[in-house]
Amino acid sequence: MDLRRKSGSPSQSEKGKRDTAGSTKPKKGKSFEIDIFRDWCKSCGICSAFCPRECIMLDDDGAPTMIDSDRCTGCGWCELHCPDFAIRVHQRNEKAGTEDV
Ligand code: SF4
Ligand code: SF4
Repeated sequence: MDLRRKSGSPSQSEKGKRDTAGSTKPKKGKSFEIDIFRDWCKSCGICSAFCPRECIMLDDDGAPTMIDSDRCTGCGWCELHCPDFAIRVHQRNEKAGTEDV
């Protein structure tokens, strides 16, 4: 089974699907982002496959990339399932431009 979710422009039907993907929206006033540690990442695609909001896509080299951090709910599934501890989710503090851990 190919776990990789390729990047690229989604079709209209895919866009509609993405709008309803996942069960929750980020909590009010909270936003999240991810860090990917490239030296540890083996581009397996698991994080992309498990993200319920389809925030993570793989580029042409198979490297995971956050395509829309506004969609991220901070659920942590990508971090939980990464076998190489190569991804970390954290809250973004938009006002101060810093992060809460
Ligand atoms: S699950 Fe981990 S190792 Fe696999 S592509 Fe994502 S960040 Fe890289
Ligand atoms: S924490 Fe990870 S799995 Fe959850 S929505 Fe954000 S990018 Fe996707």
